[in-house]
Amino acid sequence: MRTPVAALLLLALAAISNAAVPQRALIEAEIERLYPHVEGLYRHFHSNPELSQREEKTGKRMAEELRKLNIQVTERVGGHGVVGVLHRGTGPTVLVRGDMDALPVKEQTGLPYASTVRTTNDQGVEVSVMHACGHDVHITCLVGVANLLTRLTNWNGTVVFLAQPAEEFGLGAQAMLKDGLFTKFPKPNYCVALHVNAELPVGRIGVTEGYSAANVDSVDITIRGVGGHGAYPHKTKDPIVLAAQSILALQTIVSRERDPLDPAVVTVGSIHGGTKHNIVPDEVQLQLTVRTFTDEMRQQVLDTIKRIVAGQAVAAGIPEDRMPTVKVRDDFTPVVYNTPDLVQRLAGVFRKLIGEEKVVKREPTMGGEDFGLLGRTPDKIPICMFSLGSIDPARFEESQRTGKGLPSLHSSLYAPVVEPTLRMGLLTMTAAVLDLLK
Ligand SMILES: [Zn+2]
Ligand SMILES: [Zn+2]
Repeated sequence: MRTPVAALLLLALAAISNAAVPQRALIEAEIERLYPHVEGLYRHFHSNPELSQREEKTGKRMAEELRKLNIQVTERVGGHGVVGVLHRGTGPTVLVRGDMDALPVKEQTGLPYASTVRTTNDQGVEVSVMHACGHDVHITCLVGVANLLTRLTNWNGTVVFLAQPAEEFGLGAQAMLKDGLFTKFPKPNYCVALHVNAELPVGRIGVTEGYSAANVDSVDITIRGVGGHGAYPHKTKDPIVLAAQSILALQTIVSRERDPLDPAVVTVGSIHGGTKHNIVPDEVQLQLTVRTFTDEMRQQVLDTIKRIVAGQAVAAGIPEDRMPTVKVRDDFTPVVYNTPDLVQRLAGVFRKLIGEEKVVKREPTMGGEDFGLLGRTPDKIPICMFSLGSIDPARFEESQRTGKGLPSLHSSLYAPVVEPTLRMGLLTMTAAVLDLLK
């Protein structure tokens, strides 16, 4: 039988050894228990992708998974969005976001659980569907992190789990905010998210302070002319020649008008006009994607596009009532500005967790991501999205050696190395949340 002193000593020793168990080992022990379920869930999501704004079954499954953990769940927030709330004590509130939508891509990875899903898109065209942007990893990690947090006891506060629809349309975060994300549910002190990275070997985490993804605007331009017979061009105002001149003139926005150290992109991604060899059409349609970082630059570039196409039309002698129209579409995705303090804090957590050399600084990209919207409310909630390496290190080395690129996100060949990617996603996101809630 133990004496009280010996028992006290044992208790003290246990406390010391508990505190000494590194956080990584603590979380990894739980991941070990959970992993088969996590991978099964990943395969399910990967084989059953749904297009943006149609994430009905995915949302339902997310709600089910979170409910199983006794998390308070609300469905159909801003479309098929799901919000889960887990309370424990009075600490801060952390929002963890995963996006649910897939892309109209025909999967060609040859994986046994590759998607064979086909559907009819909004334009009535039959398309294949694939999780080519890795959002299946994101929502699987979201469920896994929720599971881990219900098991781990060393935290205090509220976690909001956000399964977001329609990221690829740039509409999901906006729809959820409009539907009361920050008013009907606990308002977060921090918002965190991860995104798989197709250029980073698995095991590495990428962080970017400040501007990380760009403002994304879609612009529709109609170049109008005066149509007629192709044999008598002098009796027409040819919108095809004018469109060609306008497209080339638009290239001077970035090359001649912008500060070279202040990045911007103006890409004309689509041009449509005319029906037949010998007809000068009445109009030509252009579709542009415009990428910028600051609000001021965004406005300047959009204004310059209008000025240039109008100026070109004047030079071509287009009548006043046939001047071009420029429409900036509503589906604007704002910049992701990762709050530097929060990035530094979480980068510190990751360095301690997985090693200094595994946490790398990533340059900003001109890609788009609507997670940034969560940090753009008037009180500017700190946000951080970090990159989760997902590529086989051997393939990465080979691509470095040969200069041959790896399949990018949105490619029909993109395939993360599932197990280590999921395990690292769970480990880092759980550690990030625990740190913010300690
Ligand atoms: Zn994407
Ligand atoms: Zn994505």
